Amino acid sequence: MAITNRILDEDAAPATPVSLDGVFDALGRSPFRRRCGLAAAERAYLERKGLAVVLRHARDFIDRRLAPRQPPNDGRQTPFRGHPAFVAQHATATCCRCCLAKWHRIPRGHALTEPECQYVVAVIERWLRGQARQLHRRGRS
Ligand SMILES: [Zn+2]
Repeated sequence: MAITNRILDEDAAPATPVSLDGVFDALGRSPFRRRCGLAAAERAYLERKGLAVVLRHARDFIDRRLAPRQPPNDGRQTPFRGHPAFVAQHATATCCRCCLAKWHRIPRGHALTEPECQYVVAVIERWLRGQARQLHRRGRS
C-alpha cells in the first residue's frame, strides 16, 4: 500500500520514454506539479515581456543551472518564485537533473546536448502557453 501511494504521489512519473503528451498527462496526475501556477506578478511579467522573451530567459537559466554535467546545487538551483520560467520548471519537472531524469528520461551525469536543451525549452513553452490560455478564458468569463 505504501509503495502504491508513493508511486501515485511523486506520482505517475512515466517508467519509459514517453511523448510530450505522455509527460504532460503524467504531470497532470501529480498533486505537487498541478499546484504550481503563476502568481499575479509572474503573470503580469509574462504579459508585459511576452512569451519569446520569457523563453529566452528560460534558455539562459537552463544553460547555466541545468545543462552542466554536474550543475551547482543540483536539486535546489531553481527558485520557486520570481520568474514565470522558474514556476514552469517546477510545474513540468524540469527544475533539476533528478526530476529531468525521473520524468523526462534524460539521464544525469552528462552535459545536456543542444536537442535536450531545446526539448526543455519546448516543455516550458507548452506549459506557459497552457497558463496563458487559462488566463484568457478566465479573463473573458
Ligand atoms: Zn527537481
